[in-house]
Amino acid sequence: MYFFEVTVLIGLCISNSQIKRKKVSPLKITLLFLWHFFKQDKRITIMNIHEYQGKEILASYGVRVQRGIVANNPVEAVAAAKQLTTETGTSWYVVKAQIHAGGRGKGGGVKLAKNLDQVTEISEQIIGMQLITPQTPPEGKTVHKVLIAEDVYYPGESETSEFYVSVLLNRATGRNMIMYSTEGGMDIEEVAEHTPHLIFTEEIDPSVGLQGFQARKIAFNLGLSGEAFKEMVKFIDALYKAYIGSDSSMFEINPVLKTSDNKILAVDAKVNIDDNALFRQAKYAEMRDVREENPIEVEAKEVGLNYVDLDGTVGCMVNGAGLAMATMDLIKYAGFEPANFLDVGGTADAKRVETAFRIILKDPNVKAILINIFGGIVRCDRVAQGVVDAYKNMGDAIKVPIIVRLQGTNAEIAKELIDNSGMPILSAVQFQEAADQVKAALS
Ligand code: GDP
Ligand code: MN
Repeated sequence: MYFFEVTVLIGLCISNSQIKRKKVSPLKITLLFLWHFFKQDKRITIMNIHEYQGKEILASYGVRVQRGIVANNPVEAVAAAKQLTTETGTSWYVVKAQIHAGGRGKGGGVKLAKNLDQVTEISEQIIGMQLITPQTPPEGKTVHKVLIAEDVYYPGESETSEFYVSVLLNRATGRNMIMYSTEGGMDIEEVAEHTPHLIFTEEIDPSVGLQGFQARKIAFNLGLSGEAFKEMVKFIDALYKAYIGSDSSMFEINPVLKTSDNKILAVDAKVNIDDNALFRQAKYAEMRDVREENPIEVEAKEVGLNYVDLDGTVGCMVNGAGLAMATMDLIKYAGFEPANFLDVGGTADAKRVETAFRIILKDPNVKAILINIFGGIVRCDRVAQGVVDAYKNMGDAIKVPIIVRLQGTNAEIAKELIDNSGMPILSAVQFQEAADQVKAALS
């Protein structure tokens, strides 16, 4: 099972265009692999939240953050700016688009305003815009809110510097780790590709938690001394407490800023909360913003299907996550790309199969559907009947070829049932057969 997981993940990594461009060394592959694993492995059930919400969580644990107030329109933005000036004395502001994607600065979603008129002007520009960044879908994401933040890059006794700090779970060792770098404010993928030696990691022993010497080592490796060193130690300590306390699966603070008066604070905050902990984190559950999520995935979640949208053309309907990943391998092996990951779970009855068909067909890229079900507890003939019934019920809604592979209890009876159904459904018993049929159907 693990083999398949790794294969699929590596597949996902390699298909990523960032990596496609260049040949990369094994160390870089490892770093990139780790990175993409955490950033793009959608199977880990995570809830993504906005920067302003992430900063609220951090601040509640005593992590120093760039202060800001969220605004839904330019009028609120100006009120927010005035309030910030009262509270912090700032005279410049940063207007930051709130979407669930990074790289906003590059896409024109983070802008400096030097007076209230500019706050109005920039908010008018950003709210409602379709923001395209390297991390959004090609059509971008609609901005509904902006964060009006104090300017923290003010001049002073020393130079400002930007760092990168993230906290995440290293599944290979089963430990949380802090990943950090002197190269803050840049794409960490770029840093991993060109200067991997500038990325450090610190693993935390779960039985004793983050130790003082570890926080000091991080501050030291980041080249800090004096007041800034002490501030960084406090920052790391509070950050780790926030990560544990909020049941997060990833924190990425890029950049962490050393201000010109030697304060250390979070300028950005990407926070992923573990879905499985939301039952005991009710206040974080409320932070969910469905507008930011893939609509098909949202709908699938509502009907209890484990569905992840992907870029390919072959829709998959499978029971069990391991088999789903093996099926995706199979599709790639046949020379195609999966359109989705879909685990229908244990009960593959007609109603569920029909729901799954409807969800898969919402994706206009789907050119064929491969159903790969292992009949263990649920008998294959039952599933086959479900597929046939669902197909009948759906009338002409299904315009793409369907390939069904059923294996396990009563597989042969199931195949007969499908072959004799009079429906244009192709059946297969062996993996290879199914792959060949996908190929034939799409060529
Ligand atoms: P991202 O582009 O989505 O990662 O958004 P960030 O929150 O990281 O902001 C992008 C960039 O905006 C940062 O790397 C900073 O260079 C810049 N920025 C953020 N806050 C301020 C600020 O208070 N003053 C100035 N001058 N620049 C800022
Ligand atoms: Mn950032």
